[in-house]
Amino acid sequence: AESEVVNLRRQLVEAASTQHRLPTQKSISSTSLGSAGAASIGPAKDRDEEDEEDADEKEAGSSAALLVTEEISRQCSVGDLIFENLEAAGPSLISSGGPRAASIGAPPEAAGQEEVPQLWDRINYLERRCRTMQKKLDARPIIFQSSSGQGPLNLESGQSRPGWEPWLRDAAGPVALRLNLPQGWERRLGDLATALEQPLRSFTQRLLRQDKWLWMFYVHLLVLYTIVGSCIASGSSPVLQGAKQAGSPGKKPSSSRLAAPISAEVDNNDNNSNNGSNSNNNNGNNSSREVASLSDLGRLLEVLGRQLEGIEFVRVQLGVTLGERGLSRETAVKLASGRDASDSEVQQLAKEAVLDHLRLEFATRYPGTELVSQEPDLKLLLDVSLWQFAPPIPTAIFLYGRYRKLVRGIPQTRWPCAVCRGERTGRYGKRKLGSEPGSGLISEPGASSASGKAGGTSSLSMCEACKGSGLQYANSVQDLIGSSLVTAFAAEDGVFHGMGREDIDVRCLGSGRPFVLELRAPRLRRPLQDLQALGAAVNSPEAVGAGRVELSGALLRLSSRAEPARLKGAAADKTYTIRFRVQGGFGGPEDEARILALAGSVLDQRTPSRVEHRRADLVRGRTILALGPIIAEGDEVELTIKAESGTYIKEFVHGDAGRTVPSVSGTLGRKCDVMWLDVREIHGE
Ligand SMILES: [Zn+2]
Repeated sequence: AESEVVNLRRQLVEAASTQHRLPTQKSISSTSLGSAGAASIGPAKDRDEEDEEDADEKEAGSSAALLVTEEISRQCSVGDLIFENLEAAGPSLISSGGPRAASIGAPPEAAGQEEVPQLWDRINYLERRCRTMQKKLDARPIIFQSSSGQGPLNLESGQSRPGWEPWLRDAAGPVALRLNLPQGWERRLGDLATALEQPLRSFTQRLLRQDKWLWMFYVHLLVLYTIVGSCIASGSSPVLQGAKQAGSPGKKPSSSRLAAPISAEVDNNDNNSNNGSNSNNNNGNNSSREVASLSDLGRLLEVLGRQLEGIEFVRVQLGVTLGERGLSRETAVKLASGRDASDSEVQQLAKEAVLDHLRLEFATRYPGTELVSQEPDLKLLLDVSLWQFAPPIPTAIFLYGRYRKLVRGIPQTRWPCAVCRGERTGRYGKRKLGSEPGSGLISEPGASSASGKAGGTSSLSMCEACKGSGLQYANSVQDLIGSSLVTAFAAEDGVFHGMGREDIDVRCLGSGRPFVLELRAPRLRRPLQDLQALGAAVNSPEAVGAGRVELSGALLRLSSRAEPARLKGAAADKTYTIRFRVQGGFGGPEDEARILALAGSVLDQRTPSRVEHRRADLVRGRTILALGPIIAEGDEVELTIKAESGTYIKEFVHGDAGRTVPSVSGTLGRKCDVMWLDVREIHGE
């Protein structure tokens, strides 16, 4: 049908022979043609009526009809051209007075008069064709055509003001009033939205034109949804956790007093490390409240038993808490075996009843264990309101020993990489503790980068400075001694508490420096007689620290949670050997006597400039307890010094630009450059 229309139009144009077009179509075709037809021409009236029909159909809202209308009006305009041609041909035919007639200049000769009937025939013929065409078009199925309709999806629009502006003004009016927004804020918002809309629309348009881009867009959506989905599944999304917490009803003030467990007080650290898994298990709190019953304890212990697999324990501390919200009175009365009392009493009774039954059940189920109230291997805490156990965390094991550092260049504890600050993973922006036992310990550069790769599941970039180890120095006393022990106890990590520390470039000899190694969450509890063997393994030639770090004396003994604090508070005198070069040479017995005369003097030692940025700037009084012997070799001097705890020995020698008075450099009147320093003995431990 369309090709026919085209054909038709061409015929008409040929017939019309005038090449110019009129700007508006419909109005002219109805007025001028109508007024002209009223005079003598019949068919023009038909055309008028047809136009009205079109208008009717337009009102009926049929979009297909719209198409037809457009087509017809186009034809009409062509008909108009013909009419114009007629006017030009013979002014006698047309009743004068129309605006068009006035615009026509001098009438031409009546030469073409005999053509007029032929043209009218043609018009009539075309009218008929037109009606047939219309019927054909009417018969076609209706397809939505948008009004502005350049593209099929109307992506080019979006210039007009958004329709939601008035709605927004009404809906958000009170808020805007409170925020003191100026008049017309919704218009500005609308402008912003329009400005945003346009690039988005053109982006979509380009996307639709390129199949490749479109597919890439779909694939990237898929990837994003997969990531979000896996985040939700693992429960690590902070947003979700926040939502869960916000969703829980507010706590009752009366019950929060009862929230403390009866016997156990679980370590804050332990609680923090388990927040993630707690929030995972919180699903269905409300339903589980109804499950709470003494007869269900067996099932709970069975669930717990699966979590306890692989954990060694003998001494167990059982605790019961009612949770933050406490129990409903109904549940509390049921658990308290129907005894009726005041609300707080009934909660207390319920708690005691649950603990009693729990102890009985547990003792039956684990006959080899011992229920204790202090120093347990394992703390188990049942939250009655949630009706589930907190994740079991084996309590830390503390081991005491003394270490000797035989080489320079090893820090006492792990030293985080200065570039990525990554304590474990060596990845930018990631500071997560390794969850598998021993994964946090890094013994060798090779092993460390391997664990970094295994631990990092994200696509964060690897730090170049530390090669992914997260450490400034690949080794530390902490790891060289601790790694084998952490593995032996299947612990999560080993935390190092030293009695003071020496500088990286300082050796620690003699009987070594006391320390306590805290093995966190150990799944294995080795018998005490194993400690000797484990200590010997640390010192064996095959050990990672062989030749660099070793245990001295009695190797290892069991320690306690309290001992690290004792070590840190202890003030032990120390003996050092320091070697330094005297600029301008060492003057023999005279200079020796000057140095030895400093024995017993009290130093005014201002905080050294090298540690000024992390220590308070103070002047401390420190006593030099003993000096000597002195060994002089040319301009190099080796001096042994016994000093009070907290003395800065390097500063005592070089004087720290007058911040330490008196000093070796000051008493000699020459500059002294420190070559090395050793701790020879730590006294009083
Ligand atoms: Zn790094």
